[in-house]
Amino acid sequence: MQIFNNGKPYHGSEHISEGKLKGATDRNDYFYYFCPKCPDNEILRLLEYGEHDTQNENPYNNQCKSNAKYGFTLVFKLFCEKCEFTDFVKISNTGYQGGKHSDVLRV
Ligand SMILES: [Zn+2]
Repeated sequence: MQIFNNGKPYHGSEHISEGKLKGATDRNDYFYYFCPKCPDNEILRLLEYGEHDTQNENPYNNQCKSNAKYGFTLVFKLFCEKCEFTDFVKISNTGYQGGKHSDVLRV
């Protein structure tokens, strides 16, 4: 596997933070991110993904009812074919573990 972002630093910008990056599933179970700059939910391409972090044990298992098999954080490079917006987003099971979105924005 190639090195994510050619080994260059990556971090999501202010354009996608604080709830500005949204998305939805299609008619099935595929999830799409929408460009935060274009109107009408223009779909972003995922150019690549990387494993930002992995852990053999999930650090939140002792605080939750459920048991995650391990800890992971994946990072995706986003690109808008229409306006050429580029950014990064992460998905993790070692971040905030539940509750409401408004709670996450305060952490
Ligand atoms: Zn766009």
